[in-house]
Amino acid sequence: MEQPAIEGGKPIRDKFLPFSLPLIEQEEIDQVVDTLKSGWVTTGPKVKKFEQDFKDFGKAKFSLALGSCTAALHLALVALDIKENDEVITSPFTFVSTANVIVHQKAKPVFVDIDKDTYNIDAKKIEAAITDKTKAILPVHYAGHPCDMDEIMEIAKKHNLKVIEDAAHAVGAEYKGKRIGSIGDATCFSFYANKVMTTGEGGMLNTNDENIFNKASLYSLHGMDRDAWKRYSATGSWFYEVKAPGYKYNMTDIQASIGLEQLKKIDKLIESRGKIVKFYDASFKDMPEIIIPTAKEYVKHTRYIYPIRVKTDMLKIDRAQFIKALAAENIGTSVHFIPVHLHPFYRQKYGYKEGDFPIAENVYKELISIPLFPAMTEQDAQDVVDAIKKIIEFYRK
Ligand SMILES: *Cc1c(COP(=O)(O)O)cnc(C)c1O
Repeated sequence: MEQPAIEGGKPIRDKFLPFSLPLIEQEEIDQVVDTLKSGWVTTGPKVKKFEQDFKDFGKAKFSLALGSCTAALHLALVALDIKENDEVITSPFTFVSTANVIVHQKAKPVFVDIDKDTYNIDAKKIEAAITDKTKAILPVHYAGHPCDMDEIMEIAKKHNLKVIEDAAHAVGAEYKGKRIGSIGDATCFSFYANKVMTTGEGGMLNTNDENIFNKASLYSLHGMDRDAWKRYSATGSWFYEVKAPGYKYNMTDIQASIGLEQLKKIDKLIESRGKIVKFYDASFKDMPEIIIPTAKEYVKHTRYIYPIRVKTDMLKIDRAQFIKALAAENIGTSVHFIPVHLHPFYRQKYGYKEGDFPIAENVYKELISIPLFPAMTEQDAQDVVDAIKKIIEFYRK
């Protein structure tokens, strides 16, 4: 039996394979250089163009480019007037910013456990969590697999709730032929470095509601009039009025330059991920120690991550040791996500505790996101599979 590198054997590869890498090509570089040479480096014409392109792509009426998805989520709550004593229903199986922004508004994040197959919020459990304080549902399209939007929109309609989608993983995803970003009251996308498309840091808020768009726009730049950014150009004016105590959440033209080019190749980016996913699916199919992610037939999945579940009860090592053993083989990994309710702040402030959301907790304990990014080669993917096989064979009970 081959000795794992962590036990002193030879690693599967010499060069470390990161769990994710952005695909930045010459087009992005040229577009950024063009912006730098133009003299206009903050919010300006490139942001306008990026919003226009993203709106057309997403089949939404309005798109607002912002500094992050976190900013988009916060502004969506602001625009929908979510405030003190309100409750917002969301998934515990998400990055913490989904819940943090609810806390920023002094509202309470109410978690609902996830579905055991998609790891998305279990739509069947939402109604039981609704109280007379509930104002909105905030589903998260985990890994880029859309949530059960028909059921969620139906529940929202019945109880007069708003729907804000965390689509940080879901640029280009579709639910029953509908683009994510065209369904709920507001949808928030992330262009963070490792997301499906990137602007380095960045986000977008999509909505079909003009009031939401106007209010989010106002609050996105100090509460000044929408086109205040023009005030240093020939058509601008020195005069502006502040209509609300807004935030500094704008996107820059440098970020938008990258976004303009990334958006043009979004299909290619998703397809390249899909190819690696197919290879992984086939490679792990006959390994009882590994549970692979699945997708419903009626969704277009972006495959932002490939989270496997390792049945550590069949092994002599736990998940943390498995991750260490992979690192020794020069394979990078991550974990998506530590359930939000288990973080100290959420336990202390709201009394959440272990056992509250057993499906999220059980999935989390076994979860490892293995490398998946567009520029990965077949050999890279083969190395990941070989490393996992080697570790499983060595530590099998
Ligand atoms: C990345 C991420 C965010 C935050 O995105 P930023 O653009 O970094 O603010 C929000 N929700 C989820 C589920 C994420 O994965």
